[in-house]
Amino acid sequence: MIPRQRIRILKETSSTKGRYVLYWMKSDQRTRWNHALEYALDQAHGLNLPLLVYAVLEEPKDGEPRHRRFLLEGYQDVAENLIKREIPFALLPGSPQDITLALSQDAALLITDKGYLKEDRLLLEAIKASLPAALHVVETHVVVPVEAASSKEEYSAATLRRKIERLLPEFSLPLEPRLPGNQDFPWDDFSWPTPPVEAQRLLAALPPRGLIPYAGGENAAQERLTQFLEEKLAGYGEKRNDPTGDFSSGLSPYLRYGQISPLEIYLRVRKIPSEDTRVFLDELIVRRELAVNFVTYNPHYDSYTAISSFARTTLEKHRDDPRPYLYPLEELERGQTHDPYWNAAQLQLRHTGIMPGYLRMYWGKKILEWTKNPEEAYAWALLLNNRYSLDGNDPNSYAGVAWCFGKHDRPWMERPVYGTVRYMNDKGLERKFRIGEYTKKVEKLLAAQKEES
Ligand SMILES: Cc1cc2nc3c(=O)[nH]c(=O)nc-3n(C[C@H](O)[C@H](O)[C@H](O)COP(=O)(O)OP(=O)(O)OC[C@H]3O[C@@H](n4cnc5c(N)ncnc54)[C@H](O)[C@@H]3O)c2cc1C
Repeated sequence: MIPRQRIRILKETSSTKGRYVLYWMKSDQRTRWNHALEYALDQAHGLNLPLLVYAVLEEPKDGEPRHRRFLLEGYQDVAENLIKREIPFALLPGSPQDITLALSQDAALLITDKGYLKEDRLLLEAIKASLPAALHVVETHVVVPVEAASSKEEYSAATLRRKIERLLPEFSLPLEPRLPGNQDFPWDDFSWPTPPVEAQRLLAALPPRGLIPYAGGENAAQERLTQFLEEKLAGYGEKRNDPTGDFSSGLSPYLRYGQISPLEIYLRVRKIPSEDTRVFLDELIVRRELAVNFVTYNPHYDSYTAISSFARTTLEKHRDDPRPYLYPLEELERGQTHDPYWNAAQLQLRHTGIMPGYLRMYWGKKILEWTKNPEEAYAWALLLNNRYSLDGNDPNSYAGVAWCFGKHDRPWMERPVYGTVRYMNDKGLERKFRIGEYTKKVEKLLAAQKEES
């Protein structure tokens, strides 16, 4: 059963016309544990109509092929896995609005999965206004639906944790895959708004993956989860922050594109009860869903004004403090600061799309320290994160950067520039980790790449 609170009816129609049901796969690019897909099959069966699943391939926004590759690898798996379930799928290049409206002319019902960022919401509103079919949105990107978890912006992980824990049993029901469509799709007189493309062929035209360590797609996500459970979950609580090794799950790019379900991860991980499991699930569910809460309820999540009032007050007080190092964006982007640890983290991000979790905090904090003012720092941290991170432009990206500026945190001891926003320094990295090993690891990685090219 799919809990009702995962489903929002955004538009109903009185018309009973329509020759098929559509599922527009958007934020959740997977065929396993996808409530939107199974709901679409239920609806198609109920209406005795065939189902067509489609996705739209937009022009890449800032020209980084790494995100495009990950996305296309995802759709390649979706296409193959849907064929196995006898469900037709099309990947259509162009404008999501034009394609969806054109396909919907003959549809009885349009179903899509819920996205949380402003662009997702605005697009859906625009489509809804001229859609001839009914529109249902299914939330399958989180374990507990955001509005069920809370009706307001939460102050911290602690306040959300209590609410989520109470609701977990209700929203962690297994999801059985439905049978394939019971009707043939009316291909004979069907005309595409734009010819479908094959992910595989587009992938062949992209530059090689290079130093990006992950292949995209739900199949690779499954392998990564299994490897994490077998090799890394034991010890996660103690080691996850250590940047010298690869101790965390590496699942964030897959979660970002919805190539793996957080509910599936939750149900598999909780079979191995331990303190490591508790710590991991707190990150996966409470921290991640706090980020979703933040972008849902804070209309300014993508700008400096989103941060807590204590943080704004204290950063304002320290706005004119002397800043011994100031770097232009280009020097930050190329990892050319005086700080070898920060440079290594930035270069790893730039060349591989990945930065270890603990260093992400340090990285963001230092941008605050090395730029003219907090507004500039906030904008540049988001820009670099979203341009280079394989998991960028996710609710976590916005909450992660905001955290560096005091969001979801408490005041600490007062210092120059930071005021009472939590401070981090290189001495802390040296004390906690063999951080020199980390910089050597990154140097070696980059040298190997130079040799190859
Ligand atoms: C400045 C900054 C920027 C960040 N940008 C991003 C981003 O663009 N995309 C992104 O997914 N995460 C971001 N994070 C959060 C976090 O660092 C990453 O989710 C984590 O490092 C991903 O690695 P992993 O999958 O191995 O995590 P694991 O430790 O294995 O955790 C499992 C999952 O839990 C969630 N999670 C873990 N830590 C956090 C956290 N602090 N906040 C929210 N969710 C968390 C993620 O979905 C992660 O995949 C950012 C954090 C900071 C401080």
